[in-house]
Amino acid sequence: MVHKALNMYDVVVVGGGIGGTCAAAMLSAKGKKVLLLEKEPYLGGCSSTFSHQGFRYNTGATTFAGFEEGMPVHRFFESLHVTLPLLPLSSAYVQIQKGKALPRFEDLEAFLEALERVHPHPQNRAFWEEIWRINRAFYAHQDYVFSKRSWGDFARSLVSFLPIARAFFPLLLRRGDGYIRAKLPGISSAYKATLDASLRIVTQTTTHEASALSTALALGYPFLHNAYVQGGMGALFDALEPCITHVRKKTPVSRIFARSYGFEIHARHEVFHARTLVLNTPVFESARFFESGAIHAYFSRFKSLDNDQSAFMVYATFRTDAPLEHHYQILLDRPLPQTTSDALFASFSDANDHDLAPQRHRSMTLSVHTKSSWWRGLPPALYKAQKSALVSQILDQVCATLGLEKSCVVHHFGATPKTFARYLGRAQLGGIPMSYTRPFFTNPANDTPFRGLYMVGDTTFAAQGWPGVIAGVNNLQKLLDA
Ligand SMILES: Cc1cc2nc3c(=O)[nH]c(=O)nc-3n(C[C@H](O)[C@H](O)[C@H](O)COP(=O)(O)OP(=O)(O)OC[C@H]3O[C@@H](n4cnc5c(N)ncnc54)[C@H](O)[C@@H]3O)c2cc1C
Repeated sequence: MVHKALNMYDVVVVGGGIGGTCAAAMLSAKGKKVLLLEKEPYLGGCSSTFSHQGFRYNTGATTFAGFEEGMPVHRFFESLHVTLPLLPLSSAYVQIQKGKALPRFEDLEAFLEALERVHPHPQNRAFWEEIWRINRAFYAHQDYVFSKRSWGDFARSLVSFLPIARAFFPLLLRRGDGYIRAKLPGISSAYKATLDASLRIVTQTTTHEASALSTALALGYPFLHNAYVQGGMGALFDALEPCITHVRKKTPVSRIFARSYGFEIHARHEVFHARTLVLNTPVFESARFFESGAIHAYFSRFKSLDNDQSAFMVYATFRTDAPLEHHYQILLDRPLPQTTSDALFASFSDANDHDLAPQRHRSMTLSVHTKSSWWRGLPPALYKAQKSALVSQILDQVCATLGLEKSCVVHHFGATPKTFARYLGRAQLGGIPMSYTRPFFTNPANDTPFRGLYMVGDTTFAAQGWPGVIAGVNNLQKLLDA
């Protein structure tokens, strides 16, 4: 009895990704006794920073967007009074296609000037001014709440989205590619390819699959303030961790039982108790925590959301003084073998960021889309050969595109969906794609029909990435306050 009282928390959060860590910090700031349980020795999940043979790398996420006055990400950190080690960037990333560079400047005029040089079009100004306006107008709406606890709550939450639906009504009803054809008539295939590649970064879909609204939001995200995180994305979690009442790393949760008072959580050889439980594991991976029963059945229903989408990663440290940008999207003529996209996203540490790379060195994290099933169940020799061939082809592409010598690579290795499954407990990456045929309200909310059980992260409302996951944390806060 004494043991149970000691290990009783108001809230236990399982998983220290963006969603779990931000939720734990937010609830701690509200005076709750919170315990965050993370299986790895560091927080951050897909947005963490790790060491490998003495070299430091960002795991997946490398860009930090939307950190400006009034935006959800900024408001969240402001409410916690946390100072972040940020370096403002003038461009979110530089797209390189057939040797031509197009920086996605935050400043609209600078971007239009660069765009006219690479993809001139008489409607460029009108189109991109509209994209800029849509983004500003969209993020001004923050009064919605999204619940699926009951049909009544769901109906009420749809009503809360009416101002957004009214403001952007025509854009919700058409596909992105139709919208682009109407706004940029006669657009060249090369220009269209850059727009599709831009979309993939945010929505994980192309303009054919996304609604016009998702397309406009994804194309416009570089106009929101973008920052480089000094020391790697893990530094954001270093800033958040002191805000949380209790954090336990290297503590994988294995089983969870619903009890009359809330939940009994088993992790290694310890048992924790909570009135409220927040799961930060992907919804389609969460059934495994529960014995057969209503909660197990509830999470099992989400298996169909695992769309097999994942990432292949190359981590490399270059010894170079070359004046590299922080983020590149390299467009290829065609996808490389075992990948599903013709775009590589390569991020480099800042030249002065010696927490991430030694002096005169740059740490690179590169991702490209793949399918997790292409890496599962392969004989070990084939898996190894397939992986090292792809790493080598990607490094060749990067060096050729950015004018770097391959001999500058002092350390490198690759990671597959299997690697993500091993370390982060998930092979599916990138959240649930935002497609025209899958409107947001078909996705899981942050609550469940079960008392005290909540979810947060990129497979629940609102979306993936820092802005999307923090929008979900803000929604969770509203649901818990209600
Ligand atoms: C390659 C790649 C590039 C990306 N680039 C960007 C980018 O540039 N900018 C951006 O904003 N977003 C980016 N994203 C998206 C962003 O990283 C993710 O959407 C976000 O990090 C997901 O956060 P999450 O809260 O869902 O948690 P996750 O990252 O999924 O973390 C879940 C956590 O739960 C832990 N866990 C799992 N099982 C257990 C268990 N049994 N017990 C305890 N803990 C457990 C895991 O170890 C992990 O720490 C990228 C994603 C990928 C994969």
